[in-house]
Amino acid sequence: MKGVRKTSSIACLIGLIVIGLMPAASALAGDSRKDPNEIGSRNVSKGVNLYSIEREMALGKQLALEVEKQAKVIEDPIIAEYLNRLGQNLVRHSDVTFPVSFKMIESEEINAFTLPGGFIFVNSAILKLSDNEAELASVLAHELGHAAARHATRQATREQVINLSAIPLSVFGGIAGLAVRQLAGITAPMAFFHFSRAFESEADQLGIQYLWKAGYDPNASVDMFERVESTERKRPGAVSKLFRTHPQTAERIEKTQKDIEQLLPQRSEYTVNTSEYEDVRSRLYEITKPKVSDKDASVPTLSRHYSVDRD
Ligand SMILES: [Zn+2]
Repeated sequence: MKGVRKTSSIACLIGLIVIGLMPAASALAGDSRKDPNEIGSRNVSKGVNLYSIEREMALGKQLALEVEKQAKVIEDPIIAEYLNRLGQNLVRHSDVTFPVSFKMIESEEINAFTLPGGFIFVNSAILKLSDNEAELASVLAHELGHAAARHATRQATREQVINLSAIPLSVFGGIAGLAVRQLAGITAPMAFFHFSRAFESEADQLGIQYLWKAGYDPNASVDMFERVESTERKRPGAVSKLFRTHPQTAERIEKTQKDIEQLLPQRSEYTVNTSEYEDVRSRLYEITKPKVSDKDASVPTLSRHYSVDRD
């Protein structure tokens, strides 16, 4: 009896392995969202959505204004222009059908987020954490995946946490305030920022396709996941709670590696880095260097206590 059971579990295991080795062609069959040759001519935002694109953009604009009022957006023209140019290059190689903006927030917390209607914000900690242009682009590409697939409003629709379809534009300010408090780390149910695992996974999959299409090495996304994971291990609290709601890193890395192999045709050359990236990154360090006079004033207002040493 025991022997029989053993045999059947081995058979099962073989079955799984065979499925795991299915060729790329069958993985692509019938799902244009997985085919990078279809970028731009497929609809990745399909799904129930209470918001028209106009309403989504109006809502995003209000939320973005609120974020910009409360967070410190880096206005240095060289950094801002570089980030936007990097982003717009990805936009041209994506499925997005509306204008997208990219701004950098001065913050040492590792975070990036996408508001409805294509307003993408990246904390400066992301640029510092990245090691080359492709890695920085991988974060923008993932966020762009959320924007293109309209995850924010589809999620809000799905969860029906806040039925904005009944709320006039004039009261968006209150909702924007709530969103900003959420971004600041205060817990509140905010459908716009807590994407489901399926949406996160889809943004990863779209992100590597956009990265590849724009000529970057898609493996940079895996390198960046590993960097985030190791930072989280060494410096608990350095990675924003919102950023940590992304799928478990080990699982995410494994899936992304598999997607790169199965979905993306090999290119003979990839862009990994540029001297401009290096210049912009050094400039960021220069701009955000604490001033001598700030030294005494830099007493942390919030201290975190950890009972477990995660190192
Ligand atoms: Zn995400």
